[in-house]
This record gives sequence, C-alpha cells and structure tokens, in this order.
Amino acid sequence: MSGAAVRASVLVVEDDPGTGRFLTDTLSGGNYRSVRVVDGRSALDVLGQGHFDLVILDLGLPDIDGMELLRTIREWDQMPLILVVSARGQEADKVAALRAGADDYLAKPFGTQELLARVEARLRRQEPDPIEVTLDLGDLRIELGANQILLRGTPVRLTPMEKGVLQDLMRHRGRVRSHREILNAVWGPGFTSEHAYVRTIVQRLRAKLEPEPEDPEWILTVPGVGYLFQSSPRLPRAGQPPR
Ligand code: CA
Repeated sequence: MSGAAVRASVLVVEDDPGTGRFLTDTLSGGNYRSVRVVDGRSALDVLGQGHFDLVILDLGLPDIDGMELLRTIREWDQMPLILVVSARGQEADKVAALRAGADDYLAKPFGTQELLARVEARLRRQEPDPIEVTLDLGDLRIELGANQILLRGTPVRLTPMEKGVLQDLMRHRGRVRSHREILNAVWGPGFTSEHAYVRTIVQRLRAKLEPEPEDPEWILTVPGVGYLFQSSPRLPRAGQPPR
C-alpha cells in the first residue's frame, strides 16, 4: 500500500480465490483497507467485531445463501453499504437483491475501473447532509440534521441509500422528482437508467415509514414520472374517519 490515507474499510465476502484476490488487490490499489472472508459465517463473525463502511458480497457462498446473509446483515444495528457482486445478471436477480437490502449490484464479470467507480460512487454519498431539516408529520418525525427518524416516538433505522432517497425527496418536498433526478442525486451519474433501484428503495422506505405501505400517505407515486414527498396531511377520504 502507498503512503496515501486509507479511504474506507471494506469487507469482501467471496469464496472464489481468483475473484477474491482481484477484489482485494483492486481495493488496495484504490487505497481502501479490505478484509476478505470466504463464507457467510466468517462474514458475520468479522462484522460483529469491527466497523466496515462497505460490504462487497458474492451471492453464491458455500455455507449460507447470499440473499439470506444480506437480510441478516440488514437486521443488524450497524449499517454498512452493501454492494452485491453476482454471476446472476438478470434484472429479477438485481431487484431481489435490492429488495433484500442491497445498495448496489454489479454483475460479473467486471473490470478494475468499474469496481472502483462503483465503490467510490457509493462511499461518496456518505458525507453528512449539511441541511438541517426537521419535519413533524404527526406520527412521523424526521430530523435529518440530527440523523433521526421517529415513528410514533420509536427510532427507525434506515440504510444509507434509504436515507439518501428520503433526504432527496424531503429536500424537494411537495415537488415531483423523476427517477432520473433521484438516481443522479443519490447514486450518482451513470445510474440514471436504473429505475428499479429507486422503486425498490421507495418500497423499503414505505414499509418502514408508512402506516399503510400499499396506500402511502407521504411518499406518493406520480405514475410515469417518479415520486413526491407530501408533507401536508392528506384529507380524509369519503367514508373514512379523520386520523
Ligand atoms: Ca461464489
């Protein structure tokens, strides 16, 4: 490693020796600290012992199913970014991984530059939001500056990308944000056609925040365009008592 400062810590979960070495060499060349493990159990052990900013996760592991491991990591308190690398390159596989909590998905094979670009794009979005916004929406209280989201007084844990999308929608609340605008703001340039990323993160946010995720009150879909964060209480519909 050169004398440059280490930029972030990355856990590589990959059983294939060749791919594993490629990943750790590439990361070390980009001045990232990386630790590699070859199965799911070791990944959980290592994650339990120290802090990692990013996990690069191969879905095909010898012991635990990669999707299962993804869900387990997402249930924990620590919220590393998760970049899935998989030989399965179908859209359905990507969406399934995003639904389970992945922040990004890279189909094998990929090159050094592509990997580093993805890692950098993910970590660059981690700088704290300088905008202090507090929104009190009755059941839901969002304090972005203090990094706190409370649903009926109980803190809600959001993954980094969930937080990014929520911040973007809140910053433009009351206005429609297109998939492309959200992708550009949260994932960065080069992701603007990845509409599935936005859709799945919005589904995850609704499941965590909305009283009725299927009939959202705050994060509304604008068909054919994108999403809108509505910060004023919705009028009760006919035949429904006001809440
Ligand atoms: Ca594998």
